Amino acid sequence: MNKKKIFISTAIPYVNARPHIGHALELVEADVLARFYREQGNEVFFLTGTDENSLKNVQAAEKVGEEVAKFVKRHADVFFDLTKKLNISNDDFIRTAEDKRHIEGAQNLWRLTEKDIYKKDYTGLYCVGCEEFVRESDLVNGECSEHPGQKPEEVHEENYFFALSKYEDKINKLIDKEEIKIVPEARKNEILNFIKTGLQDFSISRSRERAKNWGIEVPGDSSQIMYVWFDALSNYINGYGLDDWQKADKVIHVIGKGINRFHSVYWIGMLLSAGIRIPDEVLIHGYITVDGQKISKSLGNTVDPFLLIEKYGREAVRYYLLREIPSSGDGDYSEEKFIARYNGDLANGLGNFASRVLTLAKKYEAFDLIEVSKIDVASLIYEFKLNEALVVIWKVLAEGDKYINDEKPWESGDVKTISKAVSILKEVALTLKPFLPEASELILEAINNKTNLERLLFPRLN
Ligand SMILES: [Zn+2]
Repeated sequence: MNKKKIFISTAIPYVNARPHIGHALELVEADVLARFYREQGNEVFFLTGTDENSLKNVQAAEKVGEEVAKFVKRHADVFFDLTKKLNISNDDFIRTAEDKRHIEGAQNLWRLTEKDIYKKDYTGLYCVGCEEFVRESDLVNGECSEHPGQKPEEVHEENYFFALSKYEDKINKLIDKEEIKIVPEARKNEILNFIKTGLQDFSISRSRERAKNWGIEVPGDSSQIMYVWFDALSNYINGYGLDDWQKADKVIHVIGKGINRFHSVYWIGMLLSAGIRIPDEVLIHGYITVDGQKISKSLGNTVDPFLLIEKYGREAVRYYLLREIPSSGDGDYSEEKFIARYNGDLANGLGNFASRVLTLAKKYEAFDLIEVSKIDVASLIYEFKLNEALVVIWKVLAEGDKYINDEKPWESGDVKTISKAVSILKEVALTLKPFLPEASELILEAINNKTNLERLLFPRLN
């Protein structure tokens, strides 16, 4: 097998609040890719972490009267804990305020792009929610479209600018020719349309005063702090190491739709300027609504992923996010839907089939495997259609279920029928490994040890 060097990342979230279910979605999606590429025999480096140098974090810390460094550490710990609770297989976790390699790497990237950096007196509208200067034309009734109710503040100062406009044609070509593949297509078109309006140079620093003395210093100018996105984007290289990044066969970013521009345009411009390899794929997921409504603190409808995991188990949470939410579209969470998925697909579907088949196999000593058709979901996973991959696997499960219901091997004791059912179960478990690593492992262990399940997978909820 041709072993490839593959880098996979999530975005790094701001740590101004606790993680919500959307963060869990992104982690789980990237985790499936990382586990899948590893299963295929590749050398994968999977990175996640936290974005700590933003003004948003400073304001959130001020609000609760806590020292910024302490505040971000406390929140970063919760995000780190979430990776453990969800059984995420990341190889590293980078913290942009604390990791020395990040601070040095961000400054190094700055130096590498210096030929495209210039100083300019500037007046603009800044949305702290986005951590971005916004165009007048992007506003809806004078408010940021991503942050309704928030009027951007007018900022006047002398900043460093990055000459993004120089790279307009090059970036446009790379995306159009799919040398950078943006999935789904609608997000690719959105970026191509954005580029058509003309790429403008963007500010990549702020005064130490406006940054409230928080963030990474601009190399050679202690009066300026790097723009948080300039530092944050470099985390991918800093976490992997520039050398590994350059040698990687494939670089994949998994991000939310709100930050497409930063990854598919600004980041590409910075890398082109620095002469560093660019990513191959940007896979973009949508947003989760709760009971049909946008998640917002004011509505009080944020769903705490920790509570869900505690209540239903992490594999059930992984399954819901991967199956119910279309990988590259918007989806909805509700407790009713969660319980319906759990009982229908996991308790009655996978759990019941595994338990019936293995109990029969043990009783009739029918563990000799026979050839059954392989389940091919690789192309769906490459295309970031993780929900569709699960649909395919569950179709096989349903066929397996129908097969034993029709054949009734518990009446006939037909060993060949049972062997076939065990073989189908094994294929299902193998294909499910990146999605539900623990349930798959239990099933495969039982098959290897020629025994039944030691405990019921996904006991039914009432
Ligand atoms: Zn905004």
